[in-house]
Amino acid sequence: MILSVHFLFGAAVGGALNNPTLGLPIALASHYMLDSLPHREYSIDNVENISVVGWHKAVIDLFKVAFDFFAGLVVLILLLPNSASLPWLILFGFLACVPDGLSFLHFLTKKNNLLTKHLNFHKRIHIHQVKEETSWGLGIIFQVLTVISSVVFLAIL
Ligand SMILES: [Zn+2]
Repeated sequence: MILSVHFLFGAAVGGALNNPTLGLPIALASHYMLDSLPHREYSIDNVENISVVGWHKAVIDLFKVAFDFFAGLVVLILLLPNSASLPWLILFGFLACVPDGLSFLHFLTKKNNLLTKHLNFHKRIHIHQVKEETSWGLGIIFQVLTVISSVVFLAIL
């Protein structure tokens, strides 16, 4: 799923637990749970092949990723600008995005065994190994519903 969905869901789940000791690992684990749902996302082919194509060709994809991440952060800050728990919610949201960051590190190096094992696990958790097997409609609906439920939940925290 896209990063802003992971970010908002991780913040909502972590915040709901009201206990950082539980919230931090659960926010991280929420990434894999969401990725197991059918979803589609924008292409980041040049990021996935950055070690071959180089940084200059991946710039547009990296901007998409950065915009996506910061969109989740901005929505959270706009929702709860005065919340005392905002720093924790941002941390939960950040942790929920970490698995994709680990995949990015793999795309850069391709030689680290731990990162390779993580990427294989990360890919295996997806319901469809080939993302195109999920229709755009279904792939977007799950993400829209996740964002709506996360935003509603965050608003009543
Ligand atoms: Zn992922």
